Amino acid sequence: MPKETQQPTLVWLRNDLRLTDHPAIAAAAERGGEVICVYIFEETDALRAKGGASLWWLDKSLRALRSDISSLGGKLICRKGDPEKIVPALVEETKATSVFWGRRYGKAEREIDGRIKQALQDNGIDARSFNTTLLTEPWQIETGSGGYYKVFTPYWKAVRESYEAPSTLPRPEKLGGMGVNGERIEDWALHPTQPYWSEGFATMWTPGEAGAAARLSDFLDHGVRQYEDMRNRPDCDGTSGLSPHLHFGELSPVQVWRAVKSRIDSGLQPESSAWSFLSEIVWREFSYVLLYFNPDMGWENYNPKFNAMPWKKDSASLTAWKKGQTGYPIVDAGMRQLWARGWMHNRVRMIVASFLTKHLLIHWRDGEDWFWDTLVDADPASNSSGWQWTAGSGADAAPYFRVFNPITQGQKFDVSGRYVREWCPELKDLPTKYLHAPWTADPETLKRAKVDLGTTYPKPIIDHAEGRERALTAWEALKEKQ
Ligand code: FAD
Repeated sequence: MPKETQQPTLVWLRNDLRLTDHPAIAAAAERGGEVICVYIFEETDALRAKGGASLWWLDKSLRALRSDISSLGGKLICRKGDPEKIVPALVEETKATSVFWGRRYGKAEREIDGRIKQALQDNGIDARSFNTTLLTEPWQIETGSGGYYKVFTPYWKAVRESYEAPSTLPRPEKLGGMGVNGERIEDWALHPTQPYWSEGFATMWTPGEAGAAARLSDFLDHGVRQYEDMRNRPDCDGTSGLSPHLHFGELSPVQVWRAVKSRIDSGLQPESSAWSFLSEIVWREFSYVLLYFNPDMGWENYNPKFNAMPWKKDSASLTAWKKGQTGYPIVDAGMRQLWARGWMHNRVRMIVASFLTKHLLIHWRDGEDWFWDTLVDADPASNSSGWQWTAGSGADAAPYFRVFNPITQGQKFDVSGRYVREWCPELKDLPTKYLHAPWTADPETLKRAKVDLGTTYPKPIIDHAEGRERALTAWEALKEKQ
């Protein structure tokens, strides 16, 4: 059939909310005929409901996408409900003969997509899926003896040696869908309102494809050279801040790889800093490999030894942790940054996760749940692998007996104290040498800094040495049971 008389193609967008370099959109445009972009807010018990911070991001990202589509003469068709009913209904309404989408890697998502693909194909529809969110498919890179990589370093080495980014795919010149009915994003009321905590998010983030491109370009111009030295410093803007853009697919890791690699090829120095950044992009890939081959990783210990861990039910400590009221400034600063910005620096994520699972002996699942609700980059693969890595139960994980010391971690990585002073302003007048352990300051110093421990700022909810000892004892008991 000539391209211009081709029937429409539906492109079902999920966590790939962009128009440029989008394999499914590019294939639809190449096929010819009207290209209609669809977003379905999936309401089905099979899927984990998105957290509040993710909903905030989704709302803004969809509005940006709607406007980008409209500038190409088209309309983003938004529907809410069960995709297994909505997709066939849209095929019927639009007389589309093809439905294209980007792949998802969670078990429930794969099952839904598989059923929809089968039903469409049974009806003669050309239903095709593409890789829109990863460098390589989780099953593509295998160890020498077959099977997936369970250790990061050799996985990274294999990707670094073999990966070649494909050429950029064109942005479509024109999009369709004008005559198709859809719902208004505004009517979905995606903003978290109970409580209304997202007002500070917009000070840090610009969701959408343009915001993602601007952040990448800024990082390439200013951040990537110092990345290796600065990536562990929450008191400096040392990381890219690309995680929510990558999660929502406003930018693909392929685009990031290509951009960074081209800087390396044109002599960016130090080259090791750029590679160090790309290795973090590959941590994200590795998390997807783990999730794909261990679909229960979001709630089951990867290492079953941890099934016998004597986790404590301690709702008072869990609440203090969530609210940033543990009495450990670096932990509290991180938890408050998370609440106020929907994001936390990676080093601090590790510190707060270690504190919860080791000092407080609270299950990593409770922490994962809180992050799921409050992170704008909450991601089924990276969140569960980050939590299990820190707790010690994950693949290639930090050993459980490595308990982060929240005092020395603060002193080492928030050297200037800028981070703690920003997020725990009640401590801002304390001299830096006491900032990460206010209880070690003498009464006169505390008074001068207007710090009244137990009143203006909490005393530590657990003594560091005691918490560490208790965690190690639990670990020893666990080992003996094996
Ligand atoms: P950069 O340092 O600039 O890194 C670039 C990109 O690489 C990131 O945007 C991210 O996509 C990827 N990346 C970096 N570090 C990791 C990592 N350790 N694991 C996987 N991908 C990584 N990341 C999420 O995207 N979503 C989550 O839900 C999430 N939960 C986490 C929970 C815990 C307990 C821990 C320890 C880490 C978690 N991470 C998560 C990983 C990491 O903290 C964030 O990706 C990073 O802080 C995002 O900031 P950035 O974009 O400035 O990172």
